[in-house]
Amino acid sequence: MKILVSIKRVVDYNVHIRVKADGSGVETHNVKMAANPFDAIALEEAVRLKEKKIASEIIAVSIGSQPVQETLRYALALGADRAIHVPTEKNYEPLNIAKILKNIITQENPDLIILGKQAIDDDCNQTGQMLAGLLDYPQGTFVSKLDIQNNKATVVREVDGGLETLELLLPAVITTDLRLNEPRYPSLPNIMKAKQKPIENFNIPETLLPHTEILSTSEPPVRKMGVKVSSAQELIQKLKQEAKIL
Ligand code: AMP
Repeated sequence: MKILVSIKRVVDYNVHIRVKADGSGVETHNVKMAANPFDAIALEEAVRLKEKKIASEIIAVSIGSQPVQETLRYALALGADRAIHVPTEKNYEPLNIAKILKNIITQENPDLIILGKQAIDDDCNQTGQMLAGLLDYPQGTFVSKLDIQNNKATVVREVDGGLETLELLLPAVITTDLRLNEPRYPSLPNIMKAKQKPIENFNIPETLLPHTEILSTSEPPVRKMGVKVSSAQELIQKLKQEAKIL
């Protein structure tokens, strides 16, 4: 079984996000970048399937400028067999990312495509769903458990107030939730070996026009300092008289 995992390079989740002075987006210059955490979970799941001898090949794909190759090397160090870089300086929106991935999938024919449920920079939560739609493949989103048997994937999805179990016929698209697994760290020898591995290039075959435009980006409003109250009575009084919510 062949698995394709898409990995976006994003601002490391430990970094305090700063909005660019002109509000055109988030500052990424001189900022620590890393694989999108949900994509690291996607890769870990693929590696586990390979360790169980269910998968035979893992292909990692990343779309972005030259530094995404670093993220692909991390994927190779963790167990991806091949890495495909789609070079571009543009920040494509989810529909266009899905169209690019569809082109690669049509060429590679993977049995399973694993994406993160969302990229933590744009928080769109759209690419996996759009990709499944474009491919006309079954989809399982927000997956917290995955089982593969007899050309079928059984997935447990995290839904509001509970869990849903679905059976999908392969090939299928799944997107990962936080509880699917805990990704491992690559070992030093594997990081060294990954430096020597080739990274393939895939050029975007068509002109992809944007459908949306970011008009502005802003920081969340600064929260007012809280106060400590000495009794429940004082709290109720403040909620009534100051906050006026009672
Ligand atoms: P989004 O819909 O933007 O929240 O992204 C959902 C998922 O799509 C991510 O977790 C990635 O798996 C994939 N994805 C989005 N953008 C890229 C990209 N530039 N390169 C590779 N994968 C991507």
